[in-house]
Amino acid sequence: MYSFNVKTGSRFDLIKITDKIKKFVKDENITDGIITVFVPHTTAAVTINEGADPSVVEDIKKELDEIIPLHDNYSHMEGNSAAHIKSSLIGASENIMVENGSLVLGTWQAVFFCEFDGPRTRKVYVKVN
Ligand code: ZN
Repeated sequence: MYSFNVKTGSRFDLIKITDKIKKFVKDENITDGIITVFVPHTTAAVTINEGADPSVVEDIKKELDEIIPLHDNYSHMEGNSAAHIKSSLIGASENIMVENGSLVLGTWQAVFFCEFDGPRTRKVYVKVN
């Protein structure tokens, strides 16, 4: 299994990791199959969305903060319940098809690491199925 670290810069941050996934596929000589990208954290996630226009990421962040406010009389004493909820909503993993050595992604799609309780150094696992 392959892993790499992601250094996040703020509390709420979406960071493109597509190139790191591509490097794994190249280094491992994976030509065809399915890879799983997994985030082993309870206040982070992984998602696939538009990577070309950064305003899409800004809108995602803005709306997630509206749906799941930072403070809302949560029970969890650590004070980061909003991050836990966002993590479950977005999800800890994505499966991506690989064909002829390339990730099968749409023209505008990128893979994002989602930080909801940063800044921290986080881990991402990638494995071919
Ligand atoms: Zn917590």
